[in-house]
Amino acid sequence: MSALQNYFGRIAKVSKSIVIGLGTTWRYFVNYKEELVTIQYGSEKYAPQGNYLPPRHRGIHYLESEKCIQCNICAKACPVDCIEMEGTRDGDLDGAWQGDKVQISKFVIDLNKCIFCNLCCEPCPKQCIHMGQEFDFASYTRANGVKNLLTDQPYTEADQEAEASRREQMVVLADIKKKEKAAAKAAKKAAAEKKKAAEEDKDKDKS
Ligand code: SF4
Ligand code: SF4
Repeated sequence: MSALQNYFGRIAKVSKSIVIGLGTTWRYFVNYKEELVTIQYGSEKYAPQGNYLPPRHRGIHYLESEKCIQCNICAKACPVDCIEMEGTRDGDLDGAWQGDKVQISKFVIDLNKCIFCNLCCEPCPKQCIHMGQEFDFASYTRANGVKNLLTDQPYTEADQEAEASRREQMVVLADIKKKEKAAAKAAKKAAAEKKKAAEEDKDKDKS
């Protein structure tokens, strides 16, 4: 192939690719309603799920709190330690969320630290923590970047005050539970000793 043929051949190739590219652009331009590839951010932020994001999109987490057993596995799996939770199995707490046989007082994720790796969701034995489709958690302060998964809202000072009050309740409940356990243990021990003494008396009577 001569140098001239090579030169014009390349021009033809480039021209063809430009025409193909512009054809795609034109197709989207005239069918913009059917084949939407971009959306106007803000006005269409809450577009129907699945329309613009793939189902496996790792967005902001949500929790099915009623299924959660507070096993802490998700928090332990998190490589950046951005999950925190508190709760009790010792009794009812004012304003807490009912999990699976547990009262949940706190369940937050610091999205400022989160790397959206999904490692918290995979090992959950109840499959109750998920990465959703929501992607906007923009705020003017870093404090608002912490999400309360129990309210599905940014973590507020009011949340922290309520948790502090429930923490005091948890201490009282743990104390009551401890005393109940000790009483039950003592009663069991006394019953065993009584039984043993009765058997010894029986043996004495026989001999
Ligand atoms: S791993 Fe699942 S069940 Fe366990 S604390 Fe986390 S969300 Fe709850
Ligand atoms: S997605 Fe990754 S970094 Fe974010 S909370 Fe889950 S485990 Fe932690």
